[in-house]
Amino acid sequence: MELEIIKGVGKKTVSLLNNLNIYNVNDLVEDYPFRYDIIRFGTLNDTIKEYGYIECEIVTYPKSVMIRRNFSKLSFDASIGDDFIHVNIFNRPFLKQTLKLNDTVVLYGKYDKLKNTFLASNIFFDKKNNTIEPIYHLTEGVTENLMRKLISSALSMPIEVIDYIPDSINKKYKLIDKKEALNKIHKPQTINDVKQAKLKLIYEEFFKFMFKVNYLKIKEKKANGIQRKLDEKTSSKYFDLLPFTMTEDQLKACKEIYDDMSSETRMNRLVLGDVGSGKTVVAAYAIYLNYLSKHQTAFMAPTEILAIQHYKSLTKLFKGTKMNIELLTGHMTKKEKNNIYDRLKNHDIDLVIGTHALISEEVTFDNLGLVITDEQHRFGVLQRNNLENKGTRPDVLYLSATPIPRTYALTIYGDTDISIIKTKPKGRKEIITKVVKEKDIKYAYNIIQEELNNDHQVFVVSPLIDNPESELTSVNELKGVLDKEFPNYTIGIIHGKLKQEEKDIIMNEFLNNKIQILISTTVIEVGIDIPNSTIMMIYNAERFGLATLHQLRGRVGRNDLQSYCLLVSNKDNQRLKVMEESNDGFYITEKDFEMRREGDLFGTVQSGDMVFKIGDIRENIKILMQCKIDSEEFITSNEYKEYDIYQQIINEISFLN
Ligand code: ADP
Ligand code: MG
Repeated sequence: MELEIIKGVGKKTVSLLNNLNIYNVNDLVEDYPFRYDIIRFGTLNDTIKEYGYIECEIVTYPKSVMIRRNFSKLSFDASIGDDFIHVNIFNRPFLKQTLKLNDTVVLYGKYDKLKNTFLASNIFFDKKNNTIEPIYHLTEGVTENLMRKLISSALSMPIEVIDYIPDSINKKYKLIDKKEALNKIHKPQTINDVKQAKLKLIYEEFFKFMFKVNYLKIKEKKANGIQRKLDEKTSSKYFDLLPFTMTEDQLKACKEIYDDMSSETRMNRLVLGDVGSGKTVVAAYAIYLNYLSKHQTAFMAPTEILAIQHYKSLTKLFKGTKMNIELLTGHMTKKEKNNIYDRLKNHDIDLVIGTHALISEEVTFDNLGLVITDEQHRFGVLQRNNLENKGTRPDVLYLSATPIPRTYALTIYGDTDISIIKTKPKGRKEIITKVVKEKDIKYAYNIIQEELNNDHQVFVVSPLIDNPESELTSVNELKGVLDKEFPNYTIGIIHGKLKQEEKDIIMNEFLNNKIQILISTTVIEVGIDIPNSTIMMIYNAERFGLATLHQLRGRVGRNDLQSYCLLVSNKDNQRLKVMEESNDGFYITEKDFEMRREGDLFGTVQSGDMVFKIGDIRENIKILMQCKIDSEEFITSNEYKEYDIYQQIINEISFLN
């Protein structure tokens, strides 16, 4: 059903919702809250230590003052019971018109007893009972209130929702009706509502996913692919191109790839290894074998910067061969692109490296023999197929830097063979990781100064952009602090609100050492290589999950320089101890699974390949494992044949034949 059907929704709202990947009414009701606020009214005293809600009456006209550009303060006095307090709220100048004398409003924030001031971070006009409020991911122009209203309207319409869970399983686990689950996830009355709804929706999401994985594994026999006549002697010339010897794990992965590529069955392999473990050189071996058998290779990277980086390093690596290598990105002119298209068709190019541009309709190959996808989670399954189908069943190799334990990997990747690279290349210095309390920040600054003196560069990460209400150190505040501390260096800022092009520009300046200190939120590109940076400093580190911290740390220590990871936190936090203790991604992920993600407000940077709407493979691993078993049973018993929707899913995924 179209979004316009909802009352009050026009073109403008539709395009805003599209920004959130919401294209129809079903998308809207399946846009689940990512967390809830539990509203319990407290007394003023309840809000001294922790954020809370109070109800008060406005007793003076609100005044608004501009503090600096884009930063204003609105204040008024209010009465609460017998008390009178000052109220401040930042960046809401427009409320001046709305707030009226004697209005009763609900404020969310914190009370400063000394100043008798309530610092409100949010304000509500409707009187509230104790409630559970859903919080949604938003985009500019879409507020929480609008989101709630739209979803509420959508839920009251006679929309058709599909329950993907088979009847037998709904019965077995006493799962609630899908429609009821949607109502409860968006408008819960009790915590129990949330729990019931989540169980239903997470189970459904995982079940659908595991059905696909298991169907491919059980029903689709391995398709025939290209059988190459390779000989070990010629193939091993590849290793002479490398300026180092490969680690045992790398060699094992290469052997597995060699066997795959010379056998008649199609290669479908995932190389799983920590950041910096040397996956790319393993992938390059596959490229080399594919080149020897006179086939073309397509190498897909998730971003332009990464594509360029791969292009540079592979061009250098294959300098001694006659391999023709080209780059194809969305930014090239029509003419440049057409040139590449022609040459791909004529087999004038052996290896093309690119971004999404690679899967455009115009790209055709003479004989595509191998498709490599780096950080595969960025691409949807369907997009991947597009490219894979261009040749005659090319071999497929995925690279992923999400170091998940083997049992989980086997579950999630189902029919894919997996090569795991655990050992790091020799000569790498362990990154020294230290938790630093804010009062000891000088210690961290000294290390930074020393590294800057050595012409090295520094990453600084903060969880938020600019939020005056927050106690968290925001990137803009940090810039002020660091500018003072390191006046002789250029400091850049990068965050999620910048356009991709703006980000690319700043990343490039950092890459070329025009910027020495880069402050950012967690947007720093996954996998980007800035070999000259030796420090990763993370503010409010306790706010991040282990996987995120580890991924961030992986930005440094990518060569033989001694690198540091400084975790700034005033909290004694178990996860931070794990970080001090180990540099091993697999160990850390295992710990992460054990400890769950309590308090990881900002999500994981790249639990990547497994982007689910509501399920979280760390938190809900038990449900996932159960879905694996249940979906296998559902397939082998042929029960799935009774369901049209599963026939539809099968059609979507059956690309191998
Ligand atoms: P990944 O893709 O797994 O993050 P890369 O393949 O980009 O890692 O490798 C990181 C760096 O380590 C590269 O500069 C690469 O040349 C180097 N490298 C890879 N394997 C080895 C090895 N066995 N010994 C020394 N250096 C290596
Ligand atoms: Mg990589």
